Amino acid sequence: MLKKKKGLMLSLTVASSILLAAGCSSSTGGSESSGEKNNDLPAVGATIYKFDDNFMSYVRRAMETAADGKVNLMLNDSQNDQAKQIEQVDTLIAKGAKSLAINLVDPKAAQTIVDKAKAKDIPVIFFNKEPDKSVLEGYDKAYYVGTTSSESGVIQGELIAKAWEANKDKWDRNGDGKLQYVLLKGEPGHPDAEARTKYVVDTVKEKGIEVEELALDTGMWDATKATEKMDAWIAKYNDKIEFVIANNDGMALGAIASLEKAGYFSGDKFMPVVGVDAIPEALDMIENGKMVGTVLNDAKNQGAATVQLAANAANGKDVLDGTEWELDDSKAVRVPYIEITKDNIQVGKDAYK
Ligand code: BGC
Ligand code: CA
Repeated sequence: MLKKKKGLMLSLTVASSILLAAGCSSSTGGSESSGEKNNDLPAVGATIYKFDDNFMSYVRRAMETAADGKVNLMLNDSQNDQAKQIEQVDTLIAKGAKSLAINLVDPKAAQTIVDKAKAKDIPVIFFNKEPDKSVLEGYDKAYYVGTTSSESGVIQGELIAKAWEANKDKWDRNGDGKLQYVLLKGEPGHPDAEARTKYVVDTVKEKGIEVEELALDTGMWDATKATEKMDAWIAKYNDKIEFVIANNDGMALGAIASLEKAGYFSGDKFMPVVGVDAIPEALDMIENGKMVGTVLNDAKNQGAATVQLAANAANGKDVLDGTEWELDDSKAVRVPYIEITKDNIQVGKDAYK
């Protein structure tokens, strides 16, 4: 596990803009940021599980930036439909993709995609939704770019414990010494959702804080769904809720919208809310005091690493060639998570700039 050095990122950006400028003189001058118009570049076939996902839109942007002038990135919106994604993979292979970068809809579909790629000797870089270890082990040209899912839960739990200890005089409304929470879970079966849900609660308890779960349900990573859930929970539990834990910022923002309707964040009515990702909208909430903190899920580096590995693979090179990334023993590049509060908000801002 290794973080990109700023200097290197900068020189890569400069190098890619020079390459892009050179490419432009011989191309039709199309403004495709993905370089899809440039047929001289090796083709990388990519899928995003759905474009309509707040976090993935940042990953996508980072992929397009990294691809500029380097590869012909053929990027597909799988619209949350696994059958559609499999068809897209068939089409990408038929169109001559030299490597694949796949953000699965359903992590269980990884084997099907590996089987198709392996038959044509095409390398596959999975990203964001981690496939089972056995799938990567079964194909020497399969890799993963993402995070260590549990780490985000642990960091979020530490953040909650610290904030609770500092504020429990006010936040322990019923004065029973326990933290009564509701938890908005991401998509069930998604390794990040499962790990965050488990490790956040385990960590708070390990810090010696007694907890009581009032409610836990999935908001499917989605703000609107989270608002609906939170509306129902406020109606049911009203001021029994002492903490809102969300598996991602999108759902934290959805919960805040619901809390605002119920009169929170005005006067002295307050609710601590935490998320994961550090998307710009959540950083705004931290700055204006409506979120206690979040955990940086580094979209920029995950998107860039995915394309760097896929580009190397498409060029027949070692996937790590010319990069500072490292693979762990499950052939994964794992970008670290970082705790974000008001104190280090700039770290989040820099990551999403
Ligand atoms: C992010 C979520 C996102 C999901 C998509 C997670 O790592 O934290 O915001 O919706 O990936 O797969
Ligand atoms: Ca309490």
